[in-house]
Amino acid sequence: MPYKIQEDKCTSCGTCAEQCPQGAVKPGPTAYSISADLCIDCGACEAACPSGAPVPGS
Ligand code: SF4
Ligand code: SF4
Repeated sequence: MPYKIQEDKCTSCGTCAEQCPQGAVKPGPTAYSISADLCIDCGACEAACPSGAPVPGS
C-alpha cells in the first residue's frame, strides 16, 4: 500500500519530496501529499521526515 502523510503532523518542510525516488510527494495547500500511483513503498519519506508525518498505508 502507498505511504500517506498525516496532514496534522506535516510542516511542509519539503524534505521528503527531495528524498522520494519517484517524485511522488508534492506540496498542497496545508500539507504535502503522496500520489498513490507513483509510490513504491520504499520508506524514504518516513526516514527523512523530522515530524513523523509519513506512514505506511494500511
Ligand atoms: S514511500 Fe518512497 S516512493 Fe513512496 S512517497 Fe515515500 S519516498 Fe516516495
Ligand atoms: S518531511 Fe515531513 S514535515 Fe516535511 S514536508 Fe515531508 S511529511 Fe511534511
